[in-house]
Amino acid sequence: MSETLIVAEHLRGAMRDVTGELVTAARLLGNPVAVAVIARDPSRLEVTYEGVDEIVGVPVEQAEFENDVYQHALEALIAERQPEVVLLGFTVNSMGYGPAVAAKLDLGFASDVHGLALDGEAVIATRSFYGGKVDAELEFPEGRPVLLLIRPTAFAPAPSGGSPSTSAFSVEVPSSRARHVDFREAAVGDVDITTADFLLSIGRGVGEQDAIPQFERLAEKLGAVLSVSRPLVDAGWMPNARQVGQSGKTVKPKVYLALGISGAVQHLAGMKTSGTIIAVNTDPEAAIFNVAHYGAVADLFDVADELEKLS
Ligand SMILES: Cc1cc2nc3c(=O)[nH]c(=O)nc-3n(C[C@H](O)[C@H](O)[C@H](O)COP(=O)(O)OP(=O)(O)OC[C@H]3O[C@@H](n4cnc5c(N)ncnc54)[C@H](O)[C@@H]3O)c2cc1C
Repeated sequence: MSETLIVAEHLRGAMRDVTGELVTAARLLGNPVAVAVIARDPSRLEVTYEGVDEIVGVPVEQAEFENDVYQHALEALIAERQPEVVLLGFTVNSMGYGPAVAAKLDLGFASDVHGLALDGEAVIATRSFYGGKVDAELEFPEGRPVLLLIRPTAFAPAPSGGSPSTSAFSVEVPSSRARHVDFREAAVGDVDITTADFLLSIGRGVGEQDAIPQFERLAEKLGAVLSVSRPLVDAGWMPNARQVGQSGKTVKPKVYLALGISGAVQHLAGMKTSGTIIAVNTDPEAAIFNVAHYGAVADLFDVADELEKLS
């Protein structure tokens, strides 16, 4: 059957956003879309996205993600269903087994894909190279399936709805070499900037470490979470968990307020799909203005002072 097969990603009984984004990506390819749910009880996980034709429940013993289980299950699914394209999220989970499946089965493969199109019947995937400075369109060898890891937030999540058929697929999985034991809560003081609706993000334009407490207070006043560009993490001024960008976190808040951030490609890679981007920079040529919905050529400290007064 010529189909696009998605492997759903879930955590602690809830579907992760990336699964809906994979559905949007899959729909661009025109083939029927099947979503495999590998879980202890697949029926308990809601897959309610428009555009899904079939949900394939794959019951396994393990309650949470384990590399070997997913690898084995996906290999069996590919052998049985012969999909044309397999889509996984470019996430820590999928990186643990997707490339292994592609190498073992000699599939076409690309990671960190952020664009997808068809040229005739051929799949064209877009990904970046050279630290995000160049985008390349990739073609794949004919006659064999393609497995792609799709960058989270690159596609909008599919709207909810749909009335897919359901089926079950049983697979014997060997015992895992690496087992999921428990979840560890983030260390006290860490934040998850990926779930914030409003990020106040500061860059090297703040000048010195002593300026940071002012923005911590401002973020709190505005009901925002403080995030940063990489130089502030490299300098040891802020923890890693706050970094936005290619080597930090990919974020998609409703509002991204960037103060003193130039807009290097590696930074934009992590935030350019935010709902509303507001940039403040003294340099009118700063690249951040290319993605900003609103911009002010102004001193960030003046803007911060005005915001203080408002809040
Ligand atoms: C492999 C690789 C991965 C990377 N990953 C990341 C990443 O994940 N995240 C990331 O952010 N970077 C990343 N980088 C670094 C990236 O290339 C940039 O160096 C970095 O994003 C620049 O940060 P910045 O905009 O804060 O600093 P700068 O580029 O120095 O920009 C500072 C800006 O502040 C403005 N400014 C100065 N003073 C004021 C003022 N008073 N008021 C208003 N504006 C002012 C300036 O005009 C300037 O535009 C990566 C680089 C590489 C090579």
